[in-house]
Amino acid sequence: MISRTDESRESAANFPSVISEDFLKASIETDWSGHSARFGWHCGPIDIMNAPFNDDPCVSKVNAMVCMILGPSRRACGTCIEVDAGAEQLRQHMEQTHNTHLTALSLANTAEAEEATGQRSLIQFVITGRWRTMMFEKEPGVGPANGPLQKLCDFFESKARNDDVFACIWGRQFHRREEPVSVLGKRSRNADAPLPDLPSSKEADRPAP
Ligand SMILES: [Zn+2]
Ligand SMILES: [Zn+2]
Repeated sequence: MISRTDESRESAANFPSVISEDFLKASIETDWSGHSARFGWHCGPIDIMNAPFNDDPCVSKVNAMVCMILGPSRRACGTCIEVDAGAEQLRQHMEQTHNTHLTALSLANTAEAEEATGQRSLIQFVITGRWRTMMFEKEPGVGPANGPLQKLCDFFESKARNDDVFACIWGRQFHRREEPVSVLGKRSRNADAPLPDLPSSKEADRPAP
């Protein structure tokens, strides 16, 4: 169980530097949902073109702090909200930018059950690679500085370096990175060099007729 770290009414998920094995296991074993009926949206794509997004509660205070409303391109928005600004700021962005109609967040403190539900949702979002591979209109990078996504990615990449079993199951990369760019860069710099003369494996594996 992750202990509550603050009583701020507008705090986003505030992950401690260590997630216990028990909480991690419980998170992974729960069916993933980025949205809980009880607390609202935590993370993951929001498809407002095909499903109304006006639930109450709409946005949980325990959320990714990156707008993931899908646009006409079917990519998510990617606008990051500073963690200190609070989840209500994200809700206002969603309402003003995406023409949604969302109830303002309550002023009540985040309950322990909401913390746990949101944290489980965020853990799964990151550990399964959903965050790393999601397509955005505006590249959010690591998300807002010191936000829940950055902390989770740091935590899991550090864990993967020290835990081969974990790395075998979940991989070693959780942060978003622009991998294809560097590959293309290398290729284009060496565009004049002859490509190694490798047989096509498809051809080689095909049995002779
Ligand atoms: Zn947005
Ligand atoms: Zn409205």
